[in-house]
Amino acid sequence: MGSIQLLPDEVVNKIAAGEIIERPVSIVKETVENSLDAGATEIRVEIEGGGKQLIRITDNGSGIPGNEAQLAFERHATSKIRTAEDLHQVATMGFRGEALASIASVCQVVLKTRRESEEAGTSLFLINGKLQNKQPVAIPTGTILEARGLFFNTPARKKFLKSDQAEAGAIVHFMNATALAHPEIAFSLYQDGRTVLDCPKTSNLKERIFQIYGSELLETLLEIDETLYHFRLYGYVSRTDALKTNRNYQYFFINRRMVKDKVLSNAVYVAYRFFAESGQYPVAFLFLEMPAVMVDVNVHPAKYEVRFLQQSLVQKGVIDAISKVLTGSRPLPQFQVGSVPIVPRYSGPDLKLSGEEIGRQPFSQHLPLSTQMPVSSALPTSPPARTLPEEGQYKIIGQYDNTYILLSDDAGLIIVDQHVAHERILYEQLLERQEKRQVITQSLLIPLVIEVNPAQMMLLEDHLTQFRDLGFEIEVFGNNTISVREIPELLIDSNYSAALSRLLEELEKLYRGGLLANLVDEMRKSVACQASVKINMPLTREKMEYMISELLKTKTPQVCPHGRPIILRISHYEIEKNFRRI
Ligand code: ADP
Ligand code: MG
Repeated sequence: MGSIQLLPDEVVNKIAAGEIIERPVSIVKETVENSLDAGATEIRVEIEGGGKQLIRITDNGSGIPGNEAQLAFERHATSKIRTAEDLHQVATMGFRGEALASIASVCQVVLKTRRESEEAGTSLFLINGKLQNKQPVAIPTGTILEARGLFFNTPARKKFLKSDQAEAGAIVHFMNATALAHPEIAFSLYQDGRTVLDCPKTSNLKERIFQIYGSELLETLLEIDETLYHFRLYGYVSRTDALKTNRNYQYFFINRRMVKDKVLSNAVYVAYRFFAESGQYPVAFLFLEMPAVMVDVNVHPAKYEVRFLQQSLVQKGVIDAISKVLTGSRPLPQFQVGSVPIVPRYSGPDLKLSGEEIGRQPFSQHLPLSTQMPVSSALPTSPPARTLPEEGQYKIIGQYDNTYILLSDDAGLIIVDQHVAHERILYEQLLERQEKRQVITQSLLIPLVIEVNPAQMMLLEDHLTQFRDLGFEIEVFGNNTISVREIPELLIDSNYSAALSRLLEELEKLYRGGLLANLVDEMRKSVACQASVKINMPLTREKMEYMISELLKTKTPQVCPHGRPIILRISHYEIEKNFRRI
């Protein structure tokens, strides 16, 4: 054995890098955390070849002073801690001062950075952690870090990397998590030139979830916000009837830092154990906030794992909090409430004739089976339990919460949203009357005079005939005032002045957004919506009966003109099954 020697810096850095930089996502993580620490409000990440070829992070943070930029690549160089005591402070993301040194030792790095106070930025180029070139550069305030050719100098490590897609997947997962944790910061991610994530700044977690996952997922989530013992747990978890088939939608954060923690994932598992079948996993975006002294985040070099001071207390608290929202949402274990399929109902001649009726038909009308099923793709294909109630075959049970009409039929229980149901009825009425040119209008004794803004005035002037076709007799006065002498009869019992203003506002909004493809139809939707029965309104039995029977006569009783469901069904089978009768 040779004599004992201090290892050269280059070797030390590579050893350290092995701990911190395992894969492309490690670089993204360290640099994005630096951007956050630097107060950036916009962080853009570009990757090529799964991040193996190129990772570029651009932020609008504080930047690094030109004369310190080189120092940032030294091991244990940090601007974030000064004393050993600061180590307990976890407000910043990084404090070991190792990340940049580690990154520079395993790839080729270009760092461009500029402080606001500096006239020009500074660009550094490093290979093997050694500075090759330093020069001024014109860039906006902030920092751009480019890392190319990960592990170009350590082929053994390179071999352990997964496919481009798998490495990119890990980066997407990390970026989603970071975006969830910081709704107030804009994040974007581009993979080989394609946009993978694009989240403008927003004010809250809910909006951020919407930006990343869309409304479909958001609608299946329950909100949690509980303060328990000395910590707060907040975020969103799945409704019990909307579980996923993988764990990709589970993110845990402690003091807004993502962790991969068994205590938390186990707590979620326990809370859902009666609701999830094997292979089903809830969505969980859970944020735990607790005093820094209660949790040690320095267990893992990349700070993914943590150690709680009172592990079982934390676990119990999380289980309790989730259980509380699950019970609050009154889940009936594994009770699957299926919605009526959203397909247009077949509106041609009724082909479901009884035997007797068929007997009465001329023989030639007994069509071959194939032609008896016209537009089969448009017919509901799901089992009978998911179909609409039939005229005369249902019973009205009553009204629930002054908002929903409850009915039952042979196939089970049916819930109808009164507002959207009425909206659908009125919309189709308007449509039919317009088509037949039988619009019913009502003259106003005193003409209504309202003010409109210039954009609305333009819209009106260009479309006076369309307004007239719907039943609005409008005269333009100039000076941004209009006078209305006739309105659609539907609106006579509502606040028609407000209804017209609202209609104009909605049209203007659509117009501005370039979304006004069918003005007349939008007008019908708006008028139908405003003339219809609201929620939280008691209905007499006669009114309910009228509504349901009219609804079932419409062409599309399943969805309202704006696309929301009108009818939900809980099948008899599901009821019996859940009461363990079958
Ligand atoms: P640490 O983050 O633990 O301090 P790093 O090696 O990640 O160590 O970074 C070293 C230093 O470089 C940081 O302390 C910070 O001063 C500076 N730095 C790194 N990235 C940025 C950035 N994006 N914006 C501003 N300063 C940065
Ligand atoms: Mg750092």
